[in-house]
Amino acid sequence: MDNGTGVDVAIVGGGIAGVSAAAEISKTHSVKLLEQESELAHHTTSRSAAIYVENEGGPVFHRLSTASRPFFDESPGADAPLVTPLPVLKVGNDSVADVLVAEAEAARKITPNVRTVTGDELTDLCPVLDPNVITIGVYEDSSGSVDVMALHQLFLRTARTHGAEIRRSAKLLSATQAASGSRRWKIETTAGPVEADVIINCAGAWGDVVATACGVAPVGLTPMRRTAFTAPISQDPSDWPFIYSFTKDLQCYFKPEAGNQLLCSLSEENPSDPTDARAEELDVALAIDRIQTISTLEIRSVKTTWAGLRTFAPDRNPVFGWDDSVDGFMWMVGQGGCGIVTSPAAGQVAGALIRSEPLAENIADLGLTREALGVSRAGLVRSLDDK
Ligand SMILES: Cc1cc2nc3c(=O)[nH]c(=O)nc-3n(C[C@H](O)[C@H](O)[C@H](O)COP(=O)(O)OP(=O)(O)OC[C@H]3O[C@@H](n4cnc5c(N)ncnc54)[C@H](O)[C@@H]3O)c2cc1C
Repeated sequence: MDNGTGVDVAIVGGGIAGVSAAAEISKTHSVKLLEQESELAHHTTSRSAAIYVENEGGPVFHRLSTASRPFFDESPGADAPLVTPLPVLKVGNDSVADVLVAEAEAARKITPNVRTVTGDELTDLCPVLDPNVITIGVYEDSSGSVDVMALHQLFLRTARTHGAEIRRSAKLLSATQAASGSRRWKIETTAGPVEADVIINCAGAWGDVVATACGVAPVGLTPMRRTAFTAPISQDPSDWPFIYSFTKDLQCYFKPEAGNQLLCSLSEENPSDPTDARAEELDVALAIDRIQTISTLEIRSVKTTWAGLRTFAPDRNPVFGWDDSVDGFMWMVGQGGCGIVTSPAAGQVAGALIRSEPLAENIADLGLTREALGVSRAGLVRSLDDK
């Protein structure tokens, strides 16, 4: 606990990245988590499609997702399983067949059950797919649907149990370090000053904004808006997989939900400022058109719409590591479209970095290194003039 002279670690951001880091780090360090909003998980974390899939986001994210699997399987401390089985079928037409075959082959090195599917098996798996449009798929049947809020609560409960203090409506405004001596951070927030030895930047779309407010060069993050919506359908989709259409100009996805309903998206990536993202009607309409093109579904109405910001580093890999130019500043940003599924491993990485320990075996054994995840790797833009 903060004993009046500050804490070891101030974590900025109360989304899944912030609470997973808090759960892990509070085991050995005093932690204060600062969230600018009056509620936690208000931004991207509460707006995801909640899919646990390993073969997604490229080799680094794939490995972090796989490394997170034991946590989801065991659900330690959770009242109920965090993941409900839901296969994922990434589909396309002949124009992307070579790409999907190669992707499945590469993915099998980490997740052996990933396989390509063609012919009647496509409609056996999802009877509404149109075989005239969809000719190939990549199938992962060990994936699932995540209870995101239960996962967030679990991390939060763990952090609190270990004494972490959670401060809502506490926006980091600026942070400075004394030029010499302890180098402790003096942080100004909308809820008053905070002192900490270390700042961990878990601010999602605002990652570069927070860094800049701390006098740290940004890493070149781009928040990308993605719109999602739920829609009632006449069929019962409970036996269908999650369908992700990959063909150019037909990109979209739909996920079966309880009560004859789908969660749908255009799966678009539109660059945005960090903001409270709102759904675009045009993106909803385009998604419906594409879903009706790749399937025999008829979507006549939309129930709820929302949007969130998936935030990417320039090389589209996560940025988990100590800043190399400033003492006591750690980045946990750039989770893109995989921040939920990778959060258990991300918390472990933050814990290892703060304790100067090697990466845990479940992460290191998959070939991930501090260098691959860190700020000093090639491909990151580091200049205060870049934003
Ligand atoms: C439509 C959609 C579908 C997705 N589907 C999936 C999926 O199926 N599986 C998956 O794994 N991921 C998915 N994602 C991605 C996932 O949601 C994100 O990667 C993840 O939520 C990012 O978490 P975060 O904690 O980094 O960001 P956020 O949840 O945005 O949290 C960052 C927090 O920092 C706070 N903050 C910012 N600046 C300050 C400041 N100055 N002071 C204090 N607090 C501050 C913000 O208020 C915010 O609460 C999806 C995203 C979208 C939009």
